[in-house]
Order: sequence, then structure tokens, then C-alpha cells
Amino acid sequence: MDLFKAMSVYAHEQLVLGHEASCGYHGIIAIHDTTLGPALGGTRFWQYATTVEAITDALRLARGMSYKSAVAGLNLGGGKAVIIGDNKRKDREALFRAHGRFVESLKGRYITAEDVGTSPADMEYVRMETASVAGLHGRSGDPSPVTAYGVYVGLKAWGSDGLAGRKILVQGAGHVARALCEFLHREGAKLVVTDIDAEKVKQVVKATGAETVAPDAIYDVPADIYSPNALGATVNDDTLKRLKVEIIAGGANNQLAEERHGEELERRGLLYAPDYVINAGGVINVYGELMGWDEDRAKRKAAEVYDTLLRIFALAERQKLPTFRAADHVAEERIAAVGTLNRIRV
Ligand code: NAD
Repeated sequence: MDLFKAMSVYAHEQLVLGHEASCGYHGIIAIHDTTLGPALGGTRFWQYATTVEAITDALRLARGMSYKSAVAGLNLGGGKAVIIGDNKRKDREALFRAHGRFVESLKGRYITAEDVGTSPADMEYVRMETASVAGLHGRSGDPSPVTAYGVYVGLKAWGSDGLAGRKILVQGAGHVARALCEFLHREGAKLVVTDIDAEKVKQVVKATGAETVAPDAIYDVPADIYSPNALGATVNDDTLKRLKVEIIAGGANNQLAEERHGEELERRGLLYAPDYVINAGGVINVYGELMGWDEDRAKRKAAEVYDTLLRIFALAERQKLPTFRAADHVAEERIAAVGTLNRIRV
């Protein structure tokens, strides 16, 4: 892998590797852009098959965070950390303290939080070594309810404010999906829910009276909206042939398997709410923790997802662009506008 070539594709600022033999720590931090503020993004703990795969993931996720925060109007850049290894390992203190020291070495240029494979308890160990960490116990806590709120508000941004009577396919019954289903149920939407975990589906059905289908059957149910809130890449060659909905809008990250699937949605006239725009409630919640906001203020900021989506849909229509490209433009424009401000020297 030519590292500088990989960094130059999306103009990443920095890529650093950290190693601590005593506890088997292999960490990578990728910083995409710090024009708007320090690079914020969680730490993913995952058994990557190769170091190249881990670096590629860190670079891709870091760029995603720059765009997510830029579009959400936060003063944050984008970064991401990955730790390579078995995320089920029990001895975590030395590992996460080594990670905390590595984060601290960047002197505030990168702020970490939880992601796949890491928990608030891990972040407490990180906190022992650095203040550049968020998502701690007793602070902003689980971001899922705010993420779900942003998705719920975003679901209304498609021309008609009311969701009552709309049929919505909710994929997933996890943290985000469950909270989202409760909002949608209160509004009178007709829900069809699925998850590979039957117990979680049962809980959602109990709380909302939703219908259920088998995990793979969700793509075949005619409805108004398909809301992915589980895995990434569920908008792909197979599902595009099957989906009979008008809108795709949900909290999952990386919903498009490839960019061409976003273009295909546009050709077919399906409205796609770009994932990193509609699911920004999570990073807004973490930002709120850094800024000392209360929960209400974070929720109010997450509600801006509605106007942001309308702006992106309008731009997409004006410029005849797929919505995911319009979102990228909005992010790039904000980063460029702030980046070219002249400094007043005193
Ligand atoms: P979670 O782990 O609580 O829930 C995910 C659910 O998806 C699980 O219940 C799992 O069983 C289910 N699932 C896995 N494979 C499935 C399949 N094939 N079909 C149906 N269900 C399946 O995670 P979460 O925190 O609710 O996050 C959900 C999605 O939202 C993820 O893509 C995550 O990256 C994204 N996201 C979450 C937040 C947040 O605040 N939690 C913020 C932004 C984005």
C-alpha cells in the first residue's frame, strides 16, 4: 500500500500508528481534516485481517466524520481511531490506557469516543491518560436516543410533515431502531420491523404493536419508506431490484454499497436521505458533551437535521445531482468557506 497515495485521494492530513508491545496494542489514528475544529470520531476495535484493511477503514471513517460534522454545523473536524485485535478480550485497562496515551500524543488534534467494539467503560481507561475523549459514563451517555430523534425528524423532510398512516419498514431493533420506532408509533405510522435477534423484535412489537417480517423479507414489502437502522451496504444490486418504496431514510452508517447505487436511486426517482446527514444526532450528542450542553439543547440541534435535509434535497434538484453528492457539496463548501477566512492579526 502506498500510504501517501492513499492519503492524497481525499486529502487526509495525518495518519499515525501506535504500538505498545507489553499489552499487544496496535492502534491507528487517521485525521482527515481539522479546518473546522479538532478531529472527532470514535475508536473502532476490530479484528482486521490485515493492517492495510485497518488503515483503509480508518481513513474512510475519518473522512466520513469530517463530512458529518461539517454538514451538521459543528465546529469539529473528522478523525477516527482503530485498534486491531479481538474486541472481546477481557484485560482492557492496559490496552485502553496505551490508546489514551497515543490519543494524548496528538495534543487535542484528535478527540475519541466509543464505536464498534468499545464501550463507555473502555473510554474511562482512555480518560485516565487524556482529556481528549467523550461519551463517558455520567456525561452525555448513550447517543442512540438523540440519533433516533434526528432520524425521526429527518423522516418528515420529504414534502409531507405527517407520518401518520405511512408504512415504514424499519430494519433493526437495536438501540437506534427501538427509540425510532417509539417516536414513529406515537405519530401513528404503520411499522414493519425486523432484526436477526428475535428477542429485540419482541420488545419493539410489545412497545409499538409493529408487524414483523423475517430479516431478508423486509426488502420485498411494499411501503412508503425503507429505514435501515442495522447494517451498512443494504442498498445494493440485490435490494435495489426488490425495494418497493418511495424513500430511503435511516440511521445506519454507509447505507450505499457503492456510490453507483446512490446514482441508481436518483435514476429511479427514489428519494435518499444521505446517511451521514440524517444520523448526525450521535455526533451532535457527543459535541454537546464537549460544549457542556444539556440534553434538550442537543435534541434541538439534532432537530436541525430537518432543515439540513430540505436544503440538500433542494440543492440536488437544482443541480440535478444525486442527494448523496449534494450532501458532499454542502460539507465541502462549509469546510472551504471557513478554511479561507482571513485572520485578523492583533
Ligand atoms: P445496535 O447494535 O444496537 O443495533 C443494530 C441491530 O441490527 C442489532 O439489533 C442487530 O441484531 C441488528 N442486525 C444485524 N444484522 C441484521 C440484519 N441482517 N437484519 C436485521 N437486523 C440486523 O446498533 P445501533 O447503535 O442501534 O446502531 C444501528 C446503526 O446506526 C449502525 O449502522 C450504526 O453505525 C448507526 N449509527 C448509530 C448511532 C448511535 O447513536 N448509536 C449514531 C450514528 C449511526
